[in-house]
Amino acid sequence: MILSKQHADFRAELRKFSREVVRCGARVCDEQGEFVDGNVKAMAERGYLGIPWPKELGGMGRDYLSYAIAVEEISRVCASTGITIAAHTSLGTYPIYKFGTPAQKEKYIPRLARGEYLGSFGLTEPNAGSDAASVETTAKKTEDGYLINGSKRFITSASYAGTVIVAASLDRSLGRKGVTCFIVETGTPGFSVASEENKLGLRGSNTVELAFEDMLVPADSVLGKEYEGYRIFMETLDGGRISIGAFCLGMAQGALDALARWAAGCGRLSQMASARLSDVATEVEAARLLVYNAAQYKDADVRADKECAFAKLYASEVAVRAAGTAMDVIGRPALTPEFDVARIYRDAKLGEIGEGTSEVMRMIIAKEVLSDIAAEQQEER
Ligand SMILES: Cc1cc2nc3c(=O)[nH]c(=O)nc-3n(C[C@H](O)[C@H](O)[C@H](O)COP(=O)(O)OP(=O)(O)OC[C@H]3O[C@@H](n4cnc5c(N)ncnc54)[C@H](O)[C@@H]3O)c2cc1C
Repeated sequence: MILSKQHADFRAELRKFSREVVRCGARVCDEQGEFVDGNVKAMAERGYLGIPWPKELGGMGRDYLSYAIAVEEISRVCASTGITIAAHTSLGTYPIYKFGTPAQKEKYIPRLARGEYLGSFGLTEPNAGSDAASVETTAKKTEDGYLINGSKRFITSASYAGTVIVAASLDRSLGRKGVTCFIVETGTPGFSVASEENKLGLRGSNTVELAFEDMLVPADSVLGKEYEGYRIFMETLDGGRISIGAFCLGMAQGALDALARWAAGCGRLSQMASARLSDVATEVEAARLLVYNAAQYKDADVRADKECAFAKLYASEVAVRAAGTAMDVIGRPALTPEFDVARIYRDAKLGEIGEGTSEVMRMIIAKEVLSDIAAEQQEER
């Protein structure tokens, strides 16, 4: 895809940063299950934790396509760092930027953009994953604010976060209509990290279970309006799928890089290896077009649930296929850390599940396609 000079220059900058800085700790963090703290600090120093936010709020003032390119390049060498910047920006910061009051934006966005705070997003619970309306965490209005009780699971970066956007229900009998969003500061009494998840992949990223016990948050910590949390979470997740698409695209490109490096050192390539390399390269480029297309919708401020689902679904499945093909073709050496493919293979599987599973993406796409055809049929009548 032809990029503007501005985007191509930014990609070159991120590629250099990823190769020279991010890649260094990727293997060790994965092997030892250590958080990619050094990479987070390095991203913060360069302003990469606030790429799409305006300069007045401490961001870089760039567009969403630039941000997607950054997530892609970083994930190409270290997916654990990629998921960390993606969750921080799209899930931990975006909802405050989009739905926050001027006071909430002024208070939190500059700190998040500069990396003084890492942002986190707490929706998933032991009994609420794909069905986000089943949130069991409760919020009770009191004279002093809201008392929150409950727990969350699989929350990215929350041990290191300054803020978590929390979904809680003000009235569980209302289902999704009872859900409300809160900006919770992690130092609030009653907030605790209960345990760390021991994951198959993305082992350098932090994923934890949270517990809220009589956690009192001030009245001005409501994000948006009371009872409007479900809409805020859904819109956040739709946009978040662009960055998860970019994160998966980066892993797919990383697998292609490994396969191509191996093929280049092979001398004469077998017909089978050549064909499979071509298939992976074609799929990676198709995934890139879908991810960049979804980012361009976001830059045009056009809601595009279908295009975001296309990008997330396709890129996540391509990443798993690309890593699997690279392992099949390279064979035994791919099982060792020398090629990084084994790590990508484990990391990529998580991309199919987080921020909406492949089944959920297919449900969104089918619904949108049917609604498009219904609109067309209506026009024809
Ligand atoms: C790496 C990673 C990071 C994450 N980070 C965060 C985070 O920061 N914050 C956060 O809140 N959450 C986070 N999550 C959680 C994630 O969003 C959930 O895992 C995801 O929404 C799926 O929920 P679940 O795992 O409970 O699966 P379930 O919803 O229990 O689904 C299990 C299976 O059933 C299928 N299924 C469910 N409902 C339907 C249906 N209606 N029709 C057909 N099939 C269905 C699913 O496709 C899946 O195959 C993260 C997950 C991962 C993997």
